[in-house]
Amino acid sequence: MHALLICMERVAPLAMALTAPAKPWIEPKQSVARYIAMKVLVDHKLCEGNGRCVEVASEVFELRDDDHSYVRVERPAANLSSNVRLAASLCPRQAIRIIED
Ligand code: SF4
Repeated sequence: MHALLICMERVAPLAMALTAPAKPWIEPKQSVARYIAMKVLVDHKLCEGNGRCVEVASEVFELRDDDHSYVRVERPAANLSSNVRLAASLCPRQAIRIIED
């Protein structure tokens, strides 16, 4: 009798697992900030520090004390890409380079 109880203790969880309703397929969570293949550079020989890029995309560009724009996020998230492209188009010195990978 004792052996039968031990056997039931081992078999019961397995039986419950096999008879439990299947879990629905769970999609992997999407990354909140998806990244695209874009690399941003500022040519400091051309930059005149007027800050237009910062006005348009402050998440990506910042002006520093030397009056040059610096890239804060070299590979910006996809949701920032349009602002980065706008900043590049507005840059009067064409100092912003966008490299598409
Ligand atoms: S818009 Fe162009 S020139 Fe002006 S700070 Fe930005 S990179 Fe420099």
